[in-house]
Amino acid sequence: MNHKRNTDPMINSARCGAKTRTGTPCKSPAVHGKNRCRMHGGAEGSGAPKGNKNALKNGLYTKESIEERKQLNKMIKDYKKALEELE
Ligand SMILES: [Zn+2]
Repeated sequence: MNHKRNTDPMINSARCGAKTRTGTPCKSPAVHGKNRCRMHGGAEGSGAPKGNKNALKNGLYTKESIEERKQLNKMIKDYKKALEELE
């Protein structure tokens, strides 16, 4: 198990986090630019096209609303900090 062979890039590559039938994470290397391996939805051509609204329920997790919440939380954080400095 102590090869001189350089496998670091392979070992350090992004891993698939899908839950397997045994309940453990998959750990296979994820497909480039995706969070899942080729067996768990990372394969080419799989998944919905960008901007698809088929699963939209209330828009709570759209890119825009996530970004909006992030901005708001940052503002609140900044204000709190400013308030603390005033004391
Ligand atoms: Zn996987």
